[in-house]
Amino acid sequence: METNRSDADLPVGGAVFRGSPDYEQRRRGLSWTRTVPERHPNAIVPARDVADVQNAVRFAVDKGWLIAPKSGGHSHIGSSIRDDALVIDMAAMNHLEIDPVARKAKVGPGVKSDQLAEALAQHGLAFPVGHCRSTGMGGYLLGGGLGINWNQWGPACYSVTGLDVVGADGSVRKVDDENDGDLMWLARGCGPSFPGVITAYYLDVKPMPAIRVSMYVFPLEDTSVVSAWLDELTPRLSATVEPFAFLAGPVFGGDAPPEARFIAVAAFAFDEDEEAAEVALRPLRSTPRKPLMAEHASPRQFQDLFALIDLFLPPDKPRVHCDSMWSDDGVQQLLGALEQHMASCPSPLNNILLFQPPRIPLRDNACFSMMRSNIVTIYGLHESEEENEANADWVAEGMALLEPFTAGYWVNEADLLADPGRASNSFAPEVWSRMRSVRSKYDDWGLFADFPSLQGS
Ligand SMILES: Cc1cc2nc3c(=O)[nH]c(=O)nc-3n(C[C@H](O)[C@H](O)[C@H](O)COP(=O)(O)OP(=O)(O)OC[C@H]3O[C@@H](n4cnc5c(N)ncnc54)[C@H](O)[C@@H]3O)c2cc1C
Repeated sequence: METNRSDADLPVGGAVFRGSPDYEQRRRGLSWTRTVPERHPNAIVPARDVADVQNAVRFAVDKGWLIAPKSGGHSHIGSSIRDDALVIDMAAMNHLEIDPVARKAKVGPGVKSDQLAEALAQHGLAFPVGHCRSTGMGGYLLGGGLGINWNQWGPACYSVTGLDVVGADGSVRKVDDENDGDLMWLARGCGPSFPGVITAYYLDVKPMPAIRVSMYVFPLEDTSVVSAWLDELTPRLSATVEPFAFLAGPVFGGDAPPEARFIAVAAFAFDEDEEAAEVALRPLRSTPRKPLMAEHASPRQFQDLFALIDLFLPPDKPRVHCDSMWSDDGVQQLLGALEQHMASCPSPLNNILLFQPPRIPLRDNACFSMMRSNIVTIYGLHESEEENEANADWVAEGMALLEPFTAGYWVNEADLLADPGRASNSFAPEVWSRMRSVRSKYDDWGLFADFPSLQGS
């Protein structure tokens, strides 16, 4: 469908309308993951400030178009790329204000995890930013935000104290627990279903901890014994330790051939001082097999943690299909179910990540409400478009293997389009019904993009 050009009516520079020559390139550029869905917005507008967002919202309401906010573009389902919509692209709204004394920050939705970490580190501060450096605060925080040191700091949304929100009438208002408590509750975890456009987040930030990192790599054939060890070990670890297990290809360098597959155990310790962090990591030294590669409690800077994650999620190769689930079952059952699947994965970049929930309880002031014993994400990372289908199939087949163990989904990384029930099953049932009524209270007409599986496009 060719849309009538209405550039003159939209007082925001740089908009592209469907049918214009550079539309397709700009549409594809909306997704960091480059797995771009066949959904076609009517126009894409780059917002630089709050006034741009207000003008864009008023324009879309006037036209009767869906309003689709986009920040970092990290959504692997391209949730901001919607039919009959105006996409408001806030990538350039990456302003940052830090008050180091009060330990507060105000950040634009286009701020990325590594940008925030870098800026805070200069003041001896930190935040539970995404493990993947390029996640945008806009969507990351809305999905709860499972980030660095979440064991102690909790989901990142617990550190959000307020928002600036542009509503359907184009006005901007401050939202916090005292004013619009329902909307604040919804913003802490609702994922791609927020009834407004967030132009700034107010955050509580943390003193920078001392950090040490351990990593042990074993052949994939050791999955069963390493997983059994993790089931026994992780409950004994200090809450200052954040452990992960990866099934992965030859991402560790060296001379491993492309078909080599591994199980790696990594752990970050965040503590008051270096010595305490080293002590907290000591139980990991008792590996059940001799590792192919071992790193014991190396000191690291906070920002250096991204380089470690880059091994598994290389930022220059972001063609991604992924899906994710929560389970009450143990590491051995979950990774055991996937060992053969990993052995036959279509790309050496594919990997599977398992980690565990924070050691702090769910909170009443957040709709983030799905936490079980383990979380598994299957990443179908690959390099070329021709590999898309094989990777999508590999992720879906892996999720089918996990189905008997699935207790729910992680809204930030689940394939919410795989089944309409994915969205509701990312929350506790009573929370889901309250979420739907709060959304209706603020957006009765469905002007703002909802979960794509619930809105038909
Ligand atoms: C490889 C990979 C690694 C990841 N790692 C992590 C991780 O470590 N931890 C984690 O929690 N998540 C992780 N994610 C998930 C990621 O955080 C979510 O996809 C998140 O939505 C990305 O936010 P974004 O702003 O970059 O995305 P976008 O695609 O820009 O936005 C996604 C959706 O968020 C909503 N949204 C965005 N901005 C606004 C706004 N300003 N106002 C209102 N609504 C808005 C919209 O509904 C939009 O469709 C990862 C994803 C991938 C693919």
